[in-house]
Amino acid sequence: MSGFSEKDVSAGSRGAELIRQLAETRTLSDAQLKTLLCTGDLDALLFQAADEKRREIYGEDVYIRGLIEFTNYCRNNCYYCGIRRDNRQAERYRLSTQDILDCCAEGYRLGFRTFVLQGGEDPFFTDARICALVSEIRQRYPDCAITLSIGEKPRESYQAYFDAGANRYLLRHETANDRHYGMLHPDCMSLPNRKRCHRDLKEIGYQVGSGFMVGSPYQTTDNLIEDLRFLQSLQPHMIGIGPYITHADTPFAAFPSGSLSLTLRLIAILRLMFPYALIPATTALGTIHPQDRELGLKAGANVVMPNLSPVSVRRLYTLYENKICTGEEAAQCRGCLERRVHAAGYRIVTAVGDAAADPLAGR
Ligand code: SAH
Repeated sequence: MSGFSEKDVSAGSRGAELIRQLAETRTLSDAQLKTLLCTGDLDALLFQAADEKRREIYGEDVYIRGLIEFTNYCRNNCYYCGIRRDNRQAERYRLSTQDILDCCAEGYRLGFRTFVLQGGEDPFFTDARICALVSEIRQRYPDCAITLSIGEKPRESYQAYFDAGANRYLLRHETANDRHYGMLHPDCMSLPNRKRCHRDLKEIGYQVGSGFMVGSPYQTTDNLIEDLRFLQSLQPHMIGIGPYITHADTPFAAFPSGSLSLTLRLIAILRLMFPYALIPATTALGTIHPQDRELGLKAGANVVMPNLSPVSVRRLYTLYENKICTGEEAAQCRGCLERRVHAAGYRIVTAVGDAAADPLAGR
C-alpha cells in the first residue's frame, strides 16, 4: 500500500499539471491561481519548478543591494506602517549627506554595486536635496546603480532624480484593489495616483519595482489574484513582496502578521509568471524567522538587500516590529549573508545586477 488514495493521486497530478502550465505559459486562469494559492500540498513541486526557472535564467546568482534607510520622517499616515506620521512613539532621524556617502563608501568596499536609498516621504528632502545627493553618488560611483524608494512624487520630480543619475525606483502598489487600498490608507492617498507614479517612472526610463504585503489586514485571495494581474499589466523589473508584520503603534496593532508559507508560495508563483524579474527575499520575510530568507531564495527569489544604514539608526527604521539585523555592522552583515546564501545553494555576485532581458518583452 502506498498510503495514497486514487483521489490524492489525481489531485496531485492536476496540481503538477497546473504548475507545468504556469511555467510554460506564465499565466493561469483566476480559478487555477486560486487553487495554487490555497493548496499547501503543492508547495514542494511549486518551489522546485520556481527554482528550476530561476536557475535557467539567473543560474545560482544572487544579487545584493545595499539598503540605506536615510530618513524615517514621513508625511503619510499608512495604517500598517510604523513610521507613519501620527506615530508619536517613533523616534525620528535623518542621515546627513556625509552619513549617506559614508554608507556608500563602506558598501562599495564590501562589493555592493547598487545603493538603495529608502525613506519616508520626508519634506526636508526637497527635490533639490535629493538631486544633489543622487548626483554626488553618481559622480563617485559611475559603475553603480542608484535606486530610490521615497514614495509618490510628481512626474517632474521623478524626471529630475533620473536626470541627476538615479536609474531604479521601488514603489510597491501595496494592493491592486481600490476598496482594499482605501482600507490600508487614509483618504488623501489613492491607488490611481500610485499607478500614475508607476506609469511616469516607466515612461521616464527607470527600472521599476512594485509589490505588495502578504496577509495585510482585510486582504482576500481574490485581492492577491488582482495583485498578480496588476503586475502582469505593469511588467515591472523588480517585484518585492513580504509578509505584513504587525506594529503595536499603528491602528492595525490588533491584526495578526501575514503567513510565511503563503509568502513563499507567492514568490514561487511570481518567479514562474515573471521569469526575468528581480525578486528579493525581503527583510520582512527574514523577520518571521532568520532562515526564511533562505527559504525565499529556494522558492525563486534572486536578490537580497542587506542594510548599510549606520547601526546607530537601524532600530529606528521600524516599519514593523522585531526587524532583523539591526545590531550588526555592514561588514558583519555581508559576511553572514554570504554564508547563508551559500548554505542555501546559491552564490552572491557583486555585479550591478540588472534584470536579464526577456525575449518576450514588448510582444
Ligand atoms: N515611503 C516609501 C518606502 C516605504 S517602506 C514608499 O512609500 O514607497 C517600504 C515598504 O515596506 C512599503 O512599501 C510596505 O510595503 C512595507 N511595509 C510598511 N509597513 C509594513 C509592515 N507593517 N509590515 C510589512 N511591510 C511593511
